[in-house]
Amino acid sequence: MPSLPILVLNSGSSSIKFSLYEAGNGERVRLLEGAVDGIGTDLGKFWIKDAADKKLVDQTPAVPSRAVAFKLVADALKSGELPAPVAIGHRVVCGGPTVRENQRITPALIDEIESYSALAPLHTPIAVYIMREALRLFPGIPNFAVLDTYFHRTLPEVATRMPIPAEYAAMGVRRYGYHGISYESIIYQLQPNVPEKLIVAHLGNGASISAIRNGQCLDTSMGLTPSGGIISGTRTGDIDPGVLIFILKKIAEGTPNAAEAAEKLETVVSKKSGLLGVSELSNDMRDLREAIEAGNEKARLAVDKFCWTIARWIGSYVAELNGLDMLVFTGGIGENDIRSRAEICAGLGALGIVVDAKRNNVRGTAVISAANSPVTVRVIPPLEDLMIVNHVVRLLGE
Ligand code: ADP
Repeated sequence: MPSLPILVLNSGSSSIKFSLYEAGNGERVRLLEGAVDGIGTDLGKFWIKDAADKKLVDQTPAVPSRAVAFKLVADALKSGELPAPVAIGHRVVCGGPTVRENQRITPALIDEIESYSALAPLHTPIAVYIMREALRLFPGIPNFAVLDTYFHRTLPEVATRMPIPAEYAAMGVRRYGYHGISYESIIYQLQPNVPEKLIVAHLGNGASISAIRNGQCLDTSMGLTPSGGIISGTRTGDIDPGVLIFILKKIAEGTPNAAEAAEKLETVVSKKSGLLGVSELSNDMRDLREAIEAGNEKARLAVDKFCWTIARWIGSYVAELNGLDMLVFTGGIGENDIRSRAEICAGLGALGIVVDAKRNNVRGTAVISAANSPVTVRVIPPLEDLMIVNHVVRLLGE
C-alpha cells in the first residue's frame, strides 16, 4: 500500500484539534498535531507541532468564530509546506438512531447527523460545520465520519431501552453511550491479550465507564446524551428525575416560555453541575486538588462524590460481568490524578481490586495493581486519533 497522509479533525465546543498521520503498509506515524483553542475570544491559540515536538506554528490570533478557526487550520494544511491529506477522518460524537456505522461523508449524511444535534449539543453543531467546510475546502478528498457511538453498537437491548413510554423510545430516546473511540483504542492497545472481563473508566472533563466482555461493550454509563452516567466536570450524570422536575418548575416560575425554560434546564444539567456545581469553584481536577490541599471542604465533597460514584459503578459492572479480570483508567484524570485512582479503588478490595501505592505513583502507561491483586489495574492513555486513522484506512479499502 502506498503511504497515505490522513488528516484527523476532532472538534469541541471551543476548540478544533487535528493531527496528520502517515498510514501505509500497516504503519501509522503521526507527522504532526495541532489545535485552535479559545474560539469566540480575542486571544485564541493556534499551534502545530511535529512528531519531535518542535513547534511549527505558535500564534495567539483573535478567533472570533469557528469559521476563522477552521480557516486557520485549512490554510496551514493547504500551504504546500505540509503533506496534503488524501483522506479526512472526522470524530462525530452522535449520529442518532439512524447513523450507526462509520462511513463516507456526503452532504445528505451531514444533514442527517445535524438533525440529531440535541443528543450532543456541545459537540455536534461544530462538527457539522467542520464537515461541511472540509467538503468545500478540500474538494475531491474523501471525508469519513467516525462515531463515538459505534463501539456501543453491541449493547444489549436491556441496556439501551429506557424505562419510558414506547412513543418516546420510538423517537430515538435510548442509551447510545459515548467515548467509544477511546474505548476502542484501549482494546486495540491491549491486543492480543484482551481480558474476558474488563472495565474501562474514561475520566476526563466528561467521564464515563464501560463494562466490556471479550472486547465487546456490554454496558456503558452515558445514556441518551453525554450528560448521563457518572458525575463529571460540569454535568450531573444520572440523577433522580424528580430533581429535574423540581428544578424545571423553579425555572418556569421566572420563565413561562417552555422552550426557554428547557434551555435553562439543559444549561444547569450540562454546564453548571457536576464537580463545578458541588465545589462552587471549578470543573478542573487540578484546581480542586489544590483547593483540597488548602482545606476547601466543598472541593473535598465534590471529589469525594466523583470517586464514590465511580466506585459504585465499578461494583455494579463487576456484578454484570460476573467477575473482573482487569480495570483500566484512562482520560486526563484517569491518566494523571494519582489520588483519584487511589481513592476510587480504596474500598474495592473485596472485589479483588488492590492498588499498590508505589506503583500508582505514576502518570501515563503503567500497571498499578499490587502483585497479589486478583484484578490487574492499569493506566493506559487513549489513542483516539489513531483509531480514527485505522477506521479511515479500512473504509478507504472498501
Ligand atoms: P477532555 O474530556 O476535555 O478531553 P481530558 O481527558 O483532557 O478532558 O481531562 C481533563 C481533566 O484531566 C481535567 O479535570 C484536568 O484537571 C485533569 N488533569 C489533567 N492533568 C492532570 C494532573 N496532572 N493531575 C490531576 N488532574 C489532571
